[in-house]
Amino acid sequence: MVSLWATLCTCPGTRQDAHPRESGRARAAGTSLSTITTYHMPAELSPTAMWPRVARHTLAWLDSVGAVPRDAVLVLPFAELLPPCRRALAAEGGWMPRVETLRTLAASLGPAEAPAAESPSGDRALDQLLAERWLASLPGLRDWRGRDPAAHAQAIADVVDAAHALMRAAAGQSPPQRADWWAAAALALPATDGPGAREAALGRLAVHWASLSAAPATDRLHDLAPSAWVVLQAGGKDGLAEALMQRDSDRGVPCLRLVADADMADPFEAHSAAAPRLAAVPSMEDEAWAGAAAVIDAVSGGDTPVALIAQDRLLVRRIRALLERCDLRVADESGWALSTTRAASHLMALLRATRPAAGPDAWLDGLKACAAPGATPWLDQLERHWRRAGIEAPAGGGLDASFERWQTHRTHWQAFAAPQRQSLKRWLQALSELATTLLPASFWAEDPVAERVRAALRLDQASVRGDVDGLALSLDDFIAWVGRVLEQATYIAPVSVDAAQVVITPLARAILRPFGAVVLPGADERQLGVPQPAPELLPEASLRAMGMDDATARQQRAALGFTQLLRHPKLLLLRRRAEGSEPVGSSRWVDRLQAARALRGLAPLPESEAPLHLVRCLPQPTAQPAPIAAQALPDAVSATAVEALRACPYRFFARAVLRLSEAEELEADPGKRDFGSLLHEALYRFHETRDAAGTPEAQCQHLVGLARASAARAGLDGPAMLPFAAGLAAFAERYLVWLLARDAEGWQYQCGETDMLVAPVGLDGLRLRGRIDRIDRQRGGAVQVIDYKTGSAAGLRDKLREPLEDTQLAFYAAQVLSSEPVPPVLSALYVALDDRQAIETVLHPEVTASAQALLNGLARDWQRLRQGAALRALGEGMVCDTCEARGLCRRDHWADPALDAIGFDGPSSPEADA
Ligand code: SF4
Repeated sequence: MVSLWATLCTCPGTRQDAHPRESGRARAAGTSLSTITTYHMPAELSPTAMWPRVARHTLAWLDSVGAVPRDAVLVLPFAELLPPCRRALAAEGGWMPRVETLRTLAASLGPAEAPAAESPSGDRALDQLLAERWLASLPGLRDWRGRDPAAHAQAIADVVDAAHALMRAAAGQSPPQRADWWAAAALALPATDGPGAREAALGRLAVHWASLSAAPATDRLHDLAPSAWVVLQAGGKDGLAEALMQRDSDRGVPCLRLVADADMADPFEAHSAAAPRLAAVPSMEDEAWAGAAAVIDAVSGGDTPVALIAQDRLLVRRIRALLERCDLRVADESGWALSTTRAASHLMALLRATRPAAGPDAWLDGLKACAAPGATPWLDQLERHWRRAGIEAPAGGGLDASFERWQTHRTHWQAFAAPQRQSLKRWLQALSELATTLLPASFWAEDPVAERVRAALRLDQASVRGDVDGLALSLDDFIAWVGRVLEQATYIAPVSVDAAQVVITPLARAILRPFGAVVLPGADERQLGVPQPAPELLPEASLRAMGMDDATARQQRAALGFTQLLRHPKLLLLRRRAEGSEPVGSSRWVDRLQAARALRGLAPLPESEAPLHLVRCLPQPTAQPAPIAAQALPDAVSATAVEALRACPYRFFARAVLRLSEAEELEADPGKRDFGSLLHEALYRFHETRDAAGTPEAQCQHLVGLARASAARAGLDGPAMLPFAAGLAAFAERYLVWLLARDAEGWQYQCGETDMLVAPVGLDGLRLRGRIDRIDRQRGGAVQVIDYKTGSAAGLRDKLREPLEDTQLAFYAAQVLSSEPVPPVLSALYVALDDRQAIETVLHPEVTASAQALLNGLARDWQRLRQGAALRALGEGMVCDTCEARGLCRRDHWADPALDAIGFDGPSSPEADA
């Protein structure tokens, strides 16, 4: 073995300066070593070639120092490197050292020490609860949450971030020195009374709190007595591994540091001969397609597994979706937030429905979460009933079974939410029972993702942690906490990496792994090589004083990780050239690689246009729909239906033949439409009960009182109604001024909110249905149709600029004219109620002629429809912009909007009938 060691030290391909570089006295084989031997792995070794070299070098060195291999420990930076390393050692034959990461090695030595009461656990969601309690102990911050909830929540997150970073750094200290390190850490933070005093206090709280944490599991490593340590350094030094080697080398234990990293000061110089492919595309979507194409090419070429580096999560999600279309076996090591899974979203919907303040939308979401797929007819019925008749509407009409099930769920929800303040342990027990009772087994008991949800929330455990179990939380706080747990936990689908063709992994986990090819999308200035942020409460100077990574060290460590990727002979660095309208440059790390090549006199790497493997397809647009509904036409039409028929026959088909409509909102804030309905009702009641002889003031008060009563009856008297209520008195005054002027002209209220159903002559039985806001009559017998509007008068004037284009007043006029044996002298006007100066009216200039034209046109159109003319989608004008049937007619997927002459292309021209 000694000869192999000597061979390795001078093997071809290893530069002379890459021979084992020994620090101090290390080296002489067979003698007791008391220093750490360092060997730099050649920069040009690919990850595939690296592992046999690591194995041979380790075994040769162990032999050279007389260490028993089976008692030696080879430490790797992270767990994904264990299999290739073990395989390479096994291939060498004979005894092999233990191959571990520090974490797996510590875990093999026994369970971690139980955390002390009130100390941070390292679990983010749990520690946020504890941090809140600690925060309340700071003078002056007891009521912070009530004063500024957002800043308070941010402070909790910052304290937890800082505490966790400190705990990780403290774990790298040897146990006897740790207390001194904590004391120094407390001193390293700024103590200030001026600006930033609160952040400084929070930072000191984080240090104090973190110093209470239990001894890390890795402390057991300090009691380990291996025959030798071999530490592979890749992606930066590990403080704990260094500390262990330092301590044991002083005791005469042989230690070997295998350095796969380049020089930290300029890692690009060592890898300047690397020649990754650089490619660019115009946009993010192109980048996703190009990334997917590159992965597929590599798989097709047998370069599996292909690493897809998850540098830009959004982009990689898109690439993953494209890859899954091709049925590739993808292992996603980066996982996705648990909150985005079905099990988590059902659980959250169920929880939100239990809030006493929950409304119909939350109830429906909760009920849908509890309904098994395909078993929801009762729920569909209930939803339709609520949307049509309102949430307070009684059951009936065959809905008893639906109401019964709804009540059963509600009983469970109310039982869960009572009392509304309970201990965390009690909430978790209750949630476990609720979910098991109400969620379908396929979503909860049998879904492997739900198992992860339960584990993250500790629903299957008897206790979370002694000192946390008793924390009292309100229902809202508990729901928020569950939401945070699910957002912070990750779900990784159990796809074996060995069986995968594609492995999605973060850059730091791709180091030295023997992938067939590596694709790194997002290699641009915004994603790759950007500075790594530090915890908010730990200033850079303090980090340096504590021996933690400052901004420079973090950046260097990240650059080391990236340069490890340059070992891969098949590496593609892909980027986009623009983000929306903003140009995006290449990554600074790519620029540094180019600069390093230039220094060595190498040609710059060309950046090519990424091949997208575009397939030219002939567009296959859908045709404009033109259904025939001769046998399904309604026997009565409203003004809205006639207007739809005039604007676009297909819209009429959707509304009046298929009877489709948008779902009514269950609990939207009152809007202009609600205000308009209230005014309509109030004006109707006012005119029905008006005392025209009363004073204007008394009439005003009467109108205001009726409007308020209407709002209260509709349940619209909350804060959202304040703007409406505030303007009522002024509106009533304006209305009275206008009304008294009409009184003076001789107009008298005849009726309001009048439902009319008439069958005009010439329509062959088709009836016109509508509700007219108001009809007045003048002393001479003239009749006036009035329609109240809450829009602007200017808009109404525009509407009547082409009188034949207006449908509404003409339709009402046609109804009135058809309902009287002797047609009266008729006029019609819109009354604009919204104007702040005065009530304005907009008179239809020729409503009788318009009404007749409408009837003539409708008669002709109806006859054609009954004879089988098609109700063609026209796709013309602005009507499509706001049309609710746009998805149904597939307006955006037509070939050519030009219409042919066949079928019913629209209504007859009203001008022709005028
Ligand atoms: S989107 Fe346009 S073409 Fe389609 S139904 Fe509506 S109005 Fe007609």
